[in-house]
Amino acid sequence: MENNNNEIARKWESSEMTLAGYAAQRHVPLGGTFELTARCNLKCKMCYIRLDKAQIDLIGREKTADEWITLGKEAIQAGTLNLLITGGEPLLRPDFAEIYSALTMMGFIITLNTNATLINSEILKLFKKYPPTATNVTLYGATPETYQSICGNREAFYNTISGLEMLADIPTVLEVRTTFIKDNRHELNALRKIANRYTRRFAINTKVNKAVRGACSDAENCRLTPAQLFDLAEENGEYYRSLNSETEFALEKNMDTDNYIHALEHSHLPPQILTCLAAKSMYWITWDGKMLPCGSFTSPYTLPFKEGFQSAWDRLPTLFEKIKLPQECMKCEYVNGQCSNCPAILQSESGSFYKISSYICEIAQERSKRRKKLK
Ligand code: SF4
Ligand code: SF4
Repeated sequence: MENNNNEIARKWESSEMTLAGYAAQRHVPLGGTFELTARCNLKCKMCYIRLDKAQIDLIGREKTADEWITLGKEAIQAGTLNLLITGGEPLLRPDFAEIYSALTMMGFIITLNTNATLINSEILKLFKKYPPTATNVTLYGATPETYQSICGNREAFYNTISGLEMLADIPTVLEVRTTFIKDNRHELNALRKIANRYTRRFAINTKVNKAVRGACSDAENCRLTPAQLFDLAEENGEYYRSLNSETEFALEKNMDTDNYIHALEHSHLPPQILTCLAAKSMYWITWDGKMLPCGSFTSPYTLPFKEGFQSAWDRLPTLFEKIKLPQECMKCEYVNGQCSNCPAILQSESGSFYKISSYICEIAQERSKRRKKLK
């Protein structure tokens, strides 16, 4: 134990270990997500999370402002510092300002995910008073037509731009994020240009998984093929390399396919089946009050609003102790850090932790093929 502590101290001192990694060693819930609602004013065809009113009524009810505020107090006592507020579209909640102001005043470092279409003068006033530390705005198309085709709403293009204009006026770290599907894959440069009017931070996501937690999406039909998603990521990389500037390149963030790749650093900590920081120093709380390791899971979960935050957090890793990788993965050459075969992704793609998904396998094969070509 003493040697282990010395090793942790050495890594910490040498900055090899992030704060989240350090928190994971002690199972401190440093980073959390409050998914305030699964409702959204847009209907993106690849959305993995959006539910309409009828679906929500079948599953449960949204937690009230008071409930979120009480949970925030418990979370901060348990050690949460970074809080992501997301949805659906969180600004759809009429009590958003009440929840947001209370959480801000508790001292969280807040990141807000929004599609920016509902930013108005009142929200702007709120954000001028309490700016989110970071704001991630989704931008789905470079034209009203692409918005119509992806989100079912052409006006949303203009509303997003207007939201970005307003957000550029507040002191927040603004990031524009685009999820690429077949409909917008030809717009990479045009989208980057729009994003760069407001911020240098433009992040792309080329990997779309099937819907979770009762949501329905058209992901299977509209998402990129493995070859297309790597082509797009390479095209994006090419752009930044062509700038020949390390600062510009460093700003590029590719959310892409590799979220779970090379994340083995934390695999010795429970639950060992999760190689990232989920359930180790990170958690996600759904609109109806379930605590999950991350937003890509449907189950198993604990119930922080019922049992209390600390108990829900303490129990979370134990629910994953018995889960193993599918048999096929155990024998596969890509299993160790070359495939995003995380249980959450397998659950959303195949419906089971124990069933592989041809889409995930094809992505691993494509990645390997391209890496070999580079050598
Ligand atoms: S804006 Fe985001 S939450 Fe809303 S439907 Fe689109 S992807 Fe889903
Ligand atoms: S490629 Fe398929 S079988 Fe191999 S590790 Fe990934 S999910 Fe498992």
